[in-house]
Amino acid sequence: MSKVTEIFGSKVFNDETMKERLPKDAYKALKKTVEEGRPLDRELANVIAHAMKEWAIELGATHFTHWFQPMTGVTAEKHDSFIQPEDGGKVIMTFSGKELIKGEPDASSFPSGGLRATFEARGYTAWDPTSYVFIKDDTLCIPTAFCSYSGEALDKKTPLLRSMEALDKSAVKVLKLFGHDDVKRVITTVGPEQEYFLIDSEMYNKRPDLIYTGRTLFGAKPPKGQELEDHYFGTIKPRVSAFMKELDEELWKLGVLAKTKHNEVAPAQHELAPVFSTTNIATDHNQLTMEMMKVVAGRHGMTCLLHEKPFAGVNGSGKHNNWSISTDTGVNLLEPGATPSQNAQFLLFLTAVIKAVDEYQELLRVSVASAGNDHRLGANEAPPAIISMFLGDELEAIVESIIDGTDYEDIKKKKMSIGAAVIPSISQDTTDRNRTSPFAFTGNKFEFRSLGSSASISGPNVILNTIVAEELDKFSEELEKAADFDKALAELLKRELTAHKRIIFNGNGYAPEWVAEAEKRGLKNLKSTVDALPAFIEEKSIDVFTKHNVFTEQEILSRYDIQLENYYKVIDIEALTMDAMVKKNIMAAANDYQYSLAETLNAKAATGISVDSSVEKKRLQQASDLTVKMDARLERLEADIEKAKELSDTYDLAKFHHDVIFADMNDLREVVDELETVVPSDIWPYPTYAEILYSVK
Ligand code: ADP
Ligand code: MG
Repeated sequence: MSKVTEIFGSKVFNDETMKERLPKDAYKALKKTVEEGRPLDRELANVIAHAMKEWAIELGATHFTHWFQPMTGVTAEKHDSFIQPEDGGKVIMTFSGKELIKGEPDASSFPSGGLRATFEARGYTAWDPTSYVFIKDDTLCIPTAFCSYSGEALDKKTPLLRSMEALDKSAVKVLKLFGHDDVKRVITTVGPEQEYFLIDSEMYNKRPDLIYTGRTLFGAKPPKGQELEDHYFGTIKPRVSAFMKELDEELWKLGVLAKTKHNEVAPAQHELAPVFSTTNIATDHNQLTMEMMKVVAGRHGMTCLLHEKPFAGVNGSGKHNNWSISTDTGVNLLEPGATPSQNAQFLLFLTAVIKAVDEYQELLRVSVASAGNDHRLGANEAPPAIISMFLGDELEAIVESIIDGTDYEDIKKKKMSIGAAVIPSISQDTTDRNRTSPFAFTGNKFEFRSLGSSASISGPNVILNTIVAEELDKFSEELEKAADFDKALAELLKRELTAHKRIIFNGNGYAPEWVAEAEKRGLKNLKSTVDALPAFIEEKSIDVFTKHNVFTEQEILSRYDIQLENYYKVIDIEALTMDAMVKKNIMAAANDYQYSLAETLNAKAATGISVDSSVEKKRLQQASDLTVKMDARLERLEADIEKAKELSDTYDLAKFHHDVIFADMNDLREVVDELETVVPSDIWPYPTYAEILYSVK
């Protein structure tokens, strides 16, 4: 491998490349435009486009594309080549400022939740100059936002940028109260840890369920799962190691700060974590990471599974969204400070997050809701569907002391009171980490752990930014009016922490007692996507989003519809896949098995041996019973799939798929999995869990 420092960002038109390649004036003008968040003027765009094209061609690129993130959750691109015909049958390579700034993909095939129907049929993409242009697969990719012509967001980037703006404004106002007039901009930062499974492609190709739905719809438990806990941080197998090395290299070329890699808890499960960056960049990079994981796995004869729950009974995959707030002067606002004033400021930001998470817990739950993630949240797996916060012993003691009005005494017996003394720096010791909490303070950032592994991280961050912006706004409004700032601040902290301490829970989030306790505290336990989604369109949600210009009411309604539609479509595809697998192959295997038993029985009987209490007869009876049961459950599933066709309202459809079809599927699976344990493996039509999970040597 060539030197990491040389390959890093080699396929990115980053700041350094811009400085090198752009005329000085153009470079300065672009920087200014980006800093001020203004649109790019055409002449400047032409100059930049030209430099980009020359750079891209030198690196072998032939095409360009606006790279955007429609509400499908995956990225979209439409490649155009740079060629333009010339006289004499020749071509030249061109790329204009107009093409850089704006693209007009045929938007009609992307989900819009009815937005385009009511407004304009077309959509356009617009360059987000805060995210660098890069080269992927010989194509110059321009990160863009995707909107309808009347300005409605049709993607995941636009609301994210809007929410970052909202938080920026609110936080800057708060900082002014603390005398930080030097801060021009506040950004949120994110480091998303990405979990995934790697299996041999040969196994993958034999499983229609993995191919069509990303998860196994059948599969009896393997004799060895994760019981021994020998996989977590275990030695990385050579094939996996080769994959990880190549993945790192590909990501580094794209400027993605891939940092940590290790095995996860389940067999065949792994994780990659980058160094954190600005939220919209982190979001773009996480999409690129997921895409490269799939591409690179393919080169190694493996398939990367990003589904939240590829295997029942085995840990699923999530994403940990490490989130913080930083100033353009380089201060992490969630870092406890070294002076009394810094600490008061830290506590105000901390309180804003606590209040936001408590008041808008439903929205955070909505932001991680999907058919795939339902298998984790609210099922027997981490983290629970109940949103709560973990602060750690030290910080919780501080919060308690503010609520009780007593002095906080730290381990070294130093006393502190707000605005008077120093909060000890909060320990980042890993032993103080509660791994069961969905929303944990980890020293100088919060870790939101409920995200699904396959989803874009945009949604949860849109919500986080917006709800924290809302609380900061309310706080600054109150404090601005105060005659005695310190007194008003102390009162505010005490009042809000008292009002919202119910969201703080430092115990075991998986324990059944917590469910009862959370209910007592009035916390929501929204177990499934259908339970959670209605909160998205409640007045309270619409108010907060419209107030901060993150979503219009129309955009909220359309997104609600898209999420519901996506939910039931996923279950529908799964149900149809199950149906086909059982009807075509599993039923046949069950019959083959019974036939071979019956033949043996007949042959035995022909010799005059009594078969009445024979093993064959017992087995035949068992297989026959299971097959009859399977057939009945299959018929019920089929009948309910038909029934669903009578519904038209998206919520009714989602609810029916959750309550009825998903339940049918689980019932069917139960018999099939039992059958798998009795039918000989040479007859069973699909690779078993053991074969799949241990397929990569
Ligand atoms: P773990 O949770 O596995 O112990 P780490 O503490 O190493 O992991 O960090 C996890 C992630 O948090 C990394 O991606 C890291 O870059 C990110 N992170 C660290 N500081 C911040 C910050 N201020 N804002 C956002 N993310 C951060
Ligand atoms: Mg973590």
